Amino acid sequence: MRKLLCKNCGNAEFYVINMNETLCKCGCRLSKLSDYRWEESKKWKEVYHEEQKRQTELIFKISLLKRKIDTCLDERDKDGFKKLTKELKACHTALKTGAPHPTARLRERVQHNRDIV
Ligand SMILES: [Zn+2]
Repeated sequence: MRKLLCKNCGNAEFYVINMNETLCKCGCRLSKLSDYRWEESKKWKEVYHEEQKRQTELIFKISLLKRKIDTCLDERDKDGFKKLTKELKACHTALKTGAPHPTARLRERVQHNRDIV
């Protein structure tokens, strides 16, 4: 089940003042739905963070591979060159499949979560 969180501090426990108003631990008075946020927005952030981390790792790997390829060229290591360029291509593909519409894909996932709930 989804919980409502305080928009201000993310806390999920409130003191109920009356039917339409609650008081959060942080001292925020919450009266409108827009004063809250859904617990899921945290998950969304995590997914987004994972996607960013994945991309950063890929970009790092690509720069590392490029450096290695340069070394292969210097040393005329044809097999190494072939192997590394293949890996580099795979990294580029992985980055491409994740990169062009990351937010769209995330929205899909969030939407999917909503459907389950
Ligand atoms: Zn709060």
